[in-house]
Amino acid sequence: MNWLTNLIRPRIRSLVEPKEVPDNLWQKCSSCEGMLFNRDLIENMNVCYHCGHHLRIPVKDRLEQLFDEGKYDNITLPDVAHDPLKFKDRRKYADRIKDSRAKTGLQDAITIAKGTMGGLPVVIAAFNFSYMGGSMGTGVGEAILKAAEEAVKAKAALIAIPASGGARMQEGMLSLVQMPRSIIAVEMVKEAGLPYIVLLTDPTTGGVSASFAMVGDIHIAEPGSTIGFAGRRVIEETVRETLPDDFQTAEYLLEHGIVDMVVKRQELRETIIRIISLLTKAPAQEAVKKGNGTKGNGGKRGKAGNPKANGKALPGGEKAALKTEQKELAAKALKQVKAAQKTAQKSSKSLSAKEDLKEDTGQNAPGRSQAS
Ligand SMILES: [Zn+2]
Repeated sequence: MNWLTNLIRPRIRSLVEPKEVPDNLWQKCSSCEGMLFNRDLIENMNVCYHCGHHLRIPVKDRLEQLFDEGKYDNITLPDVAHDPLKFKDRRKYADRIKDSRAKTGLQDAITIAKGTMGGLPVVIAAFNFSYMGGSMGTGVGEAILKAAEEAVKAKAALIAIPASGGARMQEGMLSLVQMPRSIIAVEMVKEAGLPYIVLLTDPTTGGVSASFAMVGDIHIAEPGSTIGFAGRRVIEETVRETLPDDFQTAEYLLEHGIVDMVVKRQELRETIIRIISLLTKAPAQEAVKKGNGTKGNGGKRGKAGNPKANGKALPGGEKAALKTEQKELAAKALKQVKAAQKTAQKSSKSLSAKEDLKEDTGQNAPGRSQAS
C-alpha cells in the first residue's frame, strides 16, 4: 500500500489544497488583519493602507526615510567586551549574540549614522528591535556616548530613535549602568547647545524609557506606539485597577503631556527638519515640501534633496516664494512649540502622579531619579 500513501495521496492533496502564497509577497496587518501587498506596503513606508497602523520597520529603511536623498554614513560602533559575566540561562548569552548578529547582520541592537536632513547636520542613533528586542547593554550604551560625541564634534543635532524592551538582563548590573551613562551622553549634546530630539517608536519600554528616551528637547512619537516603563499587566496586578484601553500609547502620553507631538511616519522627516531648523535658527536648505519621500516614492528621497538649491542659485521670484513658505512653516512650528509648552506645564503634574504610581508599584526606575 506504500504507493498509495507515498504517491497518490500527495497528488490528490496538491489538487485539493489551496496553493500557498509565497510569504515574501503578502503579509497581514497586525492591527486590522487586512492583507497587505509587500510592494505597496514598502511604498507606504510600512504603514497599513487599510487602517493606518504603523508597522515596525528595519533601521536601514528608517534611516533612508529620514536622511536627505536616503544617504548617510554609518558610524562604526565602539568595541566592547561582550558577555563580561559569561552569562548563561537556558542558552549561553554568547550564543544569543552570535545568532542575533547572523540574523540581522548587525553588530549590536543600535545603529548610529550621520548625514544631513534638509541640509542640516544630523547624527541619528536608532535601535534595532529585531536584535534581542533592542535591549540596552554595554555596547548600546557605548554607542549612545559615541553618537553624542560625534554630534558635538560635527555641531549636529542628535536624534535618538528607541525601539527597545529595556535593559539587557544578560549583562546584569552593567546594563543598568547604561541608563545614567546615556543621560551623561545627551547632557554633552545639550551643554554644547545642540538639539536633542527623541523619536519614540513601538515599543519604547523599561530602562530605555527610564533614561535618555525621556529627556529630549522635543519628544515625537509614532501613532499607536507602546511607550511605558513597566508592562500593563504588572501595573494592573499591583494597583488592582483596570487601566484605560489606550494606556501607554503615544496618544495617551500626548494627552498627558509626556510626548510633545504624535506624527505620522509620512510627515516625520519634514517635522524633524522644521524642529531642528527652529532650534538651531538655521534655515533648512531644502524646501520642506509635502509628499517628499512619502507615498509613491518607495520611501526614498526624491529630487528635492539638493542642498545647494537654496538662496543664491534661485531666481528672485522663487526666492521670495521660498521665503514666504519658510515664514509660514515657522509660524506653524511656533504654534506647535507653544502647544508643547502648555502640555509641558500639564506634564509636571502628571509626572509627579506617575512617580507616585511607580512607588506604589515598587517599579521605580533606578535611572529615573538620577536622570532628572
Ligand atoms: Zn491595518
